[in-house]
Amino acid sequence: KAKMHGRSRYVFFEPWMDEVVRIRETTHRELRLAITDCDNQLKVLYQPVFSTITGAVTGVEALLRWDHPVNGIISPDEFIGSAEESGLIEVLGAWVLRKAMHDAADWPGLRIAVNVSPVQMRSRAFADSIVALMAETGIAPGRLELEITETVLMGDFADVADALARLRGIGVTVALDDFGTGYSSLSHIRDIAVDRIKIDQSFVNAIDAGQGMALVEAVVALAKANGLQITAEGVETERELEFLTSLGCHEVQGYLLGRPIGAAGITAILGHAARDGAASTAISYRAA
Ligand code: C2E
Ligand code: MG
Ligand code: MG
Ligand code: MG
Repeated sequence: KAKMHGRSRYVFFEPWMDEVVRIRETTHRELRLAITDCDNQLKVLYQPVFSTITGAVTGVEALLRWDHPVNGIISPDEFIGSAEESGLIEVLGAWVLRKAMHDAADWPGLRIAVNVSPVQMRSRAFADSIVALMAETGIAPGRLELEITETVLMGDFADVADALARLRGIGVTVALDDFGTGYSSLSHIRDIAVDRIKIDQSFVNAIDAGQGMALVEAVVALAKANGLQITAEGVETERELEFLTSLGCHEVQGYLLGRPIGAAGITAILGHAARDGAASTAISYRAA
């Protein structure tokens, strides 16, 4: 067991460590089952993204949920790491892409953003599978956006960069998610070719506290100077929305404007817009 920590390190296991290993193994086993039972245990919700300029819904972000038979709904933050560790992320990620693109076929013109893991993108089949899904669903490449995080820059980046370059070459766009967090630095947007940055919600939430304003302003200015689109995440207050809009941040996403909902909910919102005009999807729209 000590081997998994690397050849040259010896780890003496304490009882609590056994417990950690046991929980991890249980998660892997249950996740594997969830994937074979995907239509029951896995769900994809969609959170609308709004233009600050027109107020309309410009796209949706696909967000995975695991509806565990005993524990109920589990957030991806709690199991994506496990899926990456066990290699299950490849089939899990492929399932999400397939589901999201099929659902998005009902939403003409809307951008569909899907979070992808670096482990998943390292697979040789990754770019090919997306091209195949486009043929299958009729989704134009320009409607698909892949959300990556700066963790792609760690480790084996060459394969991921190749896959992203190829997909960008046919018109797929790439967003750098959670911008400003972790070990990230502003210089990273020069190391990796992206079309958009998504300002992390921790920055957005700091706007209300006051001290976040200068930082958000600097990030928006830098992104604009680099010709990038900017989406602010986790917008929860009118004050945040107003400030981001005044800076010229292009798009906003957050509980203030709309929580993640099922595919049918998105279809309903778009239906209202078609009937009542864009005003009903305008930024004044507030999902309860
Ligand atoms: P993310 O891509 O940064 O997604 C934004 C997260 O913030 C989502 O959490 C969303 O539900 C939440 N959120 C949106 N608006 C607000 C708000 O106003 N306030 C607050 N407090 N939260 C808000 P969620 O759905 O739990 O997803 C967590 C993370 O899991 C995502 O962060 C993404 O990194 C990852 N993830 C989600 N789905 C997938 C997937 O299909 N594949 C992979 N590899 N990762 C995924
Ligand atoms: Mg995301
Ligand atoms: Mg994010
Ligand atoms: Mg996140």
